[in-house]
Amino acid sequence: MFDNLSEKLDKALHVLKGHGQITEINVAETLKEIRRALLDADVNFKIAKEFTNKVKEKALGQNVLTSLQPGQLMVKIVKDELTQLMGGDAEGIDLSGNPSVILMSGLQGSGKTTFSGKLANYLQSKKAKKPLLVACDVYRPAAIDQLHVVGEQIGVEVYSDRENNDPVKIAKAGVAHAKANGCNVVIIDTAGRLAVDEQMMTEIANIHKAIAPQETLFVVDSMTGQDAVNTAKAFNDVLNFDGVILTKLDGDTRGGAAISIKSVVDKPIKFIGTGEKMEAIDVFYPSRMADRILGMGDVVSLVERAQEQFDEEQARKIQKKIAKNRFGFDDFLSQIQQIKKMGNMKDLMGMIPGAGKALKGLDIDDDAFKHIEAIIHSMTPDERSTPSKLNASRKKRIATGSGRTIQEVNQLLKQFEQMSKMMKMMQGGGGKKMMQMMQN
Ligand code: GDP
Repeated sequence: MFDNLSEKLDKALHVLKGHGQITEINVAETLKEIRRALLDADVNFKIAKEFTNKVKEKALGQNVLTSLQPGQLMVKIVKDELTQLMGGDAEGIDLSGNPSVILMSGLQGSGKTTFSGKLANYLQSKKAKKPLLVACDVYRPAAIDQLHVVGEQIGVEVYSDRENNDPVKIAKAGVAHAKANGCNVVIIDTAGRLAVDEQMMTEIANIHKAIAPQETLFVVDSMTGQDAVNTAKAFNDVLNFDGVILTKLDGDTRGGAAISIKSVVDKPIKFIGTGEKMEAIDVFYPSRMADRILGMGDVVSLVERAQEQFDEEQARKIQKKIAKNRFGFDDFLSQIQQIKKMGNMKDLMGMIPGAGKALKGLDIDDDAFKHIEAIIHSMTPDERSTPSKLNASRKKRIATGSGRTIQEVNQLLKQFEQMSKMMKMMQGGGGKKMMQMMQN
């Protein structure tokens, strides 16, 4: 996420981070570099200028040059301003209605349908809500099918009416259906066009008026940079929406949309989409995002994700197995599945402070575990539970079966052995010792 911007800001702040003497000249130089980095990330020119002016003002006001730790203070000022620019405190969505009606708006292809599904899934699993998805795109039958596929995937009911070509009526009927069936959230997916046009705006404005939603969300593809900001403005003029959803932040986005959108439409970014899967949704926290942009990682989100995926029952089972020296490759596989559920690898790595920079250039793809899984799948159940049985001829068979090399098989066995040892040590009271070692 925002690799390029992070790298440039890191370079800009390098001198001030304590790698040299701070002078008025290099503060000015740093500000110039920051501005350039923002412009390269497709941040609006005016916003970039205002940003550096504010940082400068604060730096002067707090006497950065004479402070005890000028570098750190400067980084903090930049971080605070970046947070402010992206929205200050995180804002949730209004779920007070019964049912709460959420209207989705945005261009075609922005990720509306996908996000409607993600949000329904999120509200169902994290907020114990009973959502209903409503398909209001009367122009593309495929869009209705798509929402049904999504609904089936997450186990959420979808209301549609293929005979009706009036989206206002469908939306209203959808809300009535929700009331009659005890659904307490209604998510209305609407039609989009490839570009802003009057008919689309009139249509969504009519739906908006007819159903008076608690939340109107504007979905935008973050890859579109400044265009995203212009589209947001056009939709906001008509709908006065409540929040922005930035999708496709897992891609090679430059960051401009995330940084500029709040100050242009003065509406908070509420959620972000970080992948095509239904789980790839995150609440947007401006301060955590600022940390990530500045290469400081996002440990809080990382721990939260780990906690979400943590399965106590399974953890207990594994603990028992470790104690009895019975931890095998099947357990290893299930651990991998859990990690995979936490999100894509590159995204996870980016949450570890400093890791983004250290791992730059390394090809970490979502399939990082594919080879390991192939090797394990080529083992017999017996070999998986008793890895000590793996002699040379068995290893050769596994390598051939999985299409990997003997070296890779050996490497995996070695890693597995090390991991088992480490887990045993952690269990045997060595955990404290290890923590102490790490802290020293
Ligand atoms: P709609 O026309 O606005 O309803 O857009 P869709 O929901 O159909 O999404 C358009 C495309 O973007 C689909 O191929 C989605 O899988 C993809 N997409 C949506 N959200 C994300 C995301 O957060 N990350 C990635 N990588 N792809 C996404």
